[in-house]
Amino acid sequence: MAMYVVGHKIPDSDSICGALALSYLKNQIGEEAIPARLGDISPETQFILDRFGFEAPELKMSYAGENVYIVDHTEKTQAPDDIDEATVVGVVDHHKLGDLTTSTPLECWIRPVGCSNTIIKMMYDFYNVEIPKEYAGIMMCAILSDTVIFKSPTCTTADIKCVEALAEIAGIEDFKALGMEMFKVKSAVQGTPVRDLVKRDFKDFDMHGNLVGIGQLEVIDLSVFDEIKAELEADIAKLKEEGNRHTVLLLLTDIMKEGSEMLIASDDESIIEKAYNVTPENSKVWLDGVLSRKKQVVPPLQDSFSLITAA
Ligand code: MG
Ligand code: MG
Ligand code: MG
Repeated sequence: MAMYVVGHKIPDSDSICGALALSYLKNQIGEEAIPARLGDISPETQFILDRFGFEAPELKMSYAGENVYIVDHTEKTQAPDDIDEATVVGVVDHHKLGDLTTSTPLECWIRPVGCSNTIIKMMYDFYNVEIPKEYAGIMMCAILSDTVIFKSPTCTTADIKCVEALAEIAGIEDFKALGMEMFKVKSAVQGTPVRDLVKRDFKDFDMHGNLVGIGQLEVIDLSVFDEIKAELEADIAKLKEEGNRHTVLLLLTDIMKEGSEMLIASDDESIIEKAYNVTPENSKVWLDGVLSRKKQVVPPLQDSFSLITAA
């Protein structure tokens, strides 16, 4: 039975490129695989697919009765809704271990590196399968995206070496210039409905029984948000109510200044204050040096929630 290879809900470039690259590898080693996605393609990902001549993987939301290889997450809140009725045959991920569990043995490729595609490159090397030029291109772009062109604290030497090797295969001389082109596409927010922006890269987490949504927009210059910031703030407050969430945060990340402005909608702002050791003003705070949701935003917040739960 063929397996579906699928990344997280609200797919990013790592989820989409990873599903494509891992499916190709699996098919090469005699395991039939079909790339799939759990949502719309972002402008950044579309840019990557166009650049290297790919079609988007098929949109598939339901996996009951199917074999599934999970990419770029292990959180049930980010997985297909009916994942419990599917057989998870494998996981490739670079986040904290989530709450996804299985009833059968599975293949696990989890490493603390900057991108799932870095691990997929390791898998190609492990199975000794040659990476086609166009696949090298999308894998390289996914790594540049997830590591914010190596600026993110999540970036490791393995990621840098992978990008260099993949750039060579793809025939891309100036990969940093291509990375900047990608982030320019990502920074073009004008004319996009506010809700689409808030949910463009949005993840829900279960933090000690509290539902917490955290969105992130990575841009080259935060001034693109000047005119819409009030609308963004109003919308995350709405999203919090609609989803019965304890907290919704939106990170406006300036990849050049290397920091994030955090917009806050929360039932209890003191949790944010404790987590990041800062006092929000008008439900906003600047976090210097913060680029990574998974490494710099989620862990302290999780700890902060465990304190109130324990109290
Ligand atoms: Mg991701
Ligand atoms: Mg990733
Ligand atoms: Mg990311």
